Amino acid sequence: MAIATINPFTGETEQTFEPHSDAEVERRIAAADAAFHALRATTFAQRAEWMRAAAQLLDDEVEELARLITIEMGRPIAGARAEVRKSAKGMRFYADHAEEFLAPEALADPSAVNASAAGTRYAPIGVVLAVMPWNYPLWQVLRFAAPALMAGNTGLLKHASNVPQSALYLDTLFERGGFPTGAFHTLLIPASGVERVLRDPRVKAATLTGSEPAGRSLGSIAGSEVKHVVLELGGSDPFIVLPSADLEKAATVAVTARNQNNGQSCIAAKRFIVHTDVYDDFVRLFTEKVAALTVGDPLDETTDVGPLATRSGRDELAGLVADAVAQGATAVTGGTVPDRAGWFYTPTVLDGITPAMRIYREEAFGPVASVYRVADREEALAIANGTTFGLSSAVWTNDADDEEWFIQNLDAGAVFVNGMTISYPELPFGGVKDSGVGRELAAAGIREFCNLKTIWKG
Ligand code: NAP
Repeated sequence: MAIATINPFTGETEQTFEPHSDAEVERRIAAADAAFHALRATTFAQRAEWMRAAAQLLDDEVEELARLITIEMGRPIAGARAEVRKSAKGMRFYADHAEEFLAPEALADPSAVNASAAGTRYAPIGVVLAVMPWNYPLWQVLRFAAPALMAGNTGLLKHASNVPQSALYLDTLFERGGFPTGAFHTLLIPASGVERVLRDPRVKAATLTGSEPAGRSLGSIAGSEVKHVVLELGGSDPFIVLPSADLEKAATVAVTARNQNNGQSCIAAKRFIVHTDVYDDFVRLFTEKVAALTVGDPLDETTDVGPLATRSGRDELAGLVADAVAQGATAVTGGTVPDRAGWFYTPTVLDGITPAMRIYREEAFGPVASVYRVADREEALAIANGTTFGLSSAVWTNDADDEEWFIQNLDAGAVFVNGMTISYPELPFGGVKDSGVGRELAAAGIREFCNLKTIWKG
């Protein structure tokens, strides 16, 4: 894939970029390695000051940055602005909490291990490679970079090829905040250039957010090098609606949970599993609200749903729907590629899904919702858990027993009750099954790229 900004609203190529040469990649790896030795010697207070200064740059530059996100990947401008602010908030969160999350711990009874004192400390590990997707071009990167740098690691970013200007903004952000040169930089390289960087002995670990095939590839290379990885991969999250739910609220939230960011979110609700007693009412409310979404220019403040980020992504989504419809599914609303420039797909609700259809198993990365009618909670759970994914999940119920039963039995990295899945800096984020390994955010996220050192004193 060419490294280029191609505006998804127009389909026009705005700017193309030459990949970094081998010599430039080498220079950047060496700079990241050298910066690690400087950064690990700094205090949390110093790093926090730099992190807050970098966060302030995001706040100061929110308008130009939001516009850049929208032009590179089509996110409606209000959401792009919210992403910039959320990223700044996440950076401040780690500036405030890194030291507490990585505080040394002492064993209460060191005599149990024949020591005068014993415990643990967290130490940084060095250069971490981050391979990132285009769908939240700032937030995905900063939720890795903020904890990594606060821990004293340095980062190298291989961003998605269709968001090079976002990648170049991030290339200078931390240095502008005050971090040493080399603490965090972008490598403008294609996916085929990742292996060489990952195998470099100066690179100690990697994180990838993206598709399952990319995660498998990176994970197997890291395995062969005995390097730690965090993988945040795809999802096909269930959104379960039970008879005791507030249906109006559930339907309103369901529309956002499926269609925000033009439906291109790993934690979007993708499968709506509804008890038969409330199925007809829920599907009617949901469909009315989906059909009322404003589809259009993502730079227009009133737009709810813009184009998909890439032509191939739009075509893939259209193929999933076509396959389902050909096998008997019904598009209750949508199901079409509108006749206009740009990579649009009409927000869609699909009914009558069967296991033979690709969409039953595969992730629909765009504004397409599948609805499933179930007779009881056991059937709801079987469908919810019946995919290879396990990122997040949502349950709508006002019955305490149902709530607890689903929390216990859903195979997912998170369960949201009477709400939609959102990533918060304060809460761990990550999946099980083919949705990935490891956690980002909260204390768990910053500890992923640390050496948990055991200390024993005689
Ligand atoms: P993608 O094709 O896997 O790309 C993601 C990143 O990986 C890009 O930088 C890409 O580079 C790179 N890449 C692709 N193949 C690679 C390989 N074989 N080796 C190394 N790097 C490789 O994913 P996408 O289609 O852009 O993003 C959508 C997917 O990401 C969805 O499945 C979504 O659910 C998932 N996602 C997951 C999370 C999460 O937190 N769990 C968050 C957001 C998105 P190029 O652009 O140069 O190909």
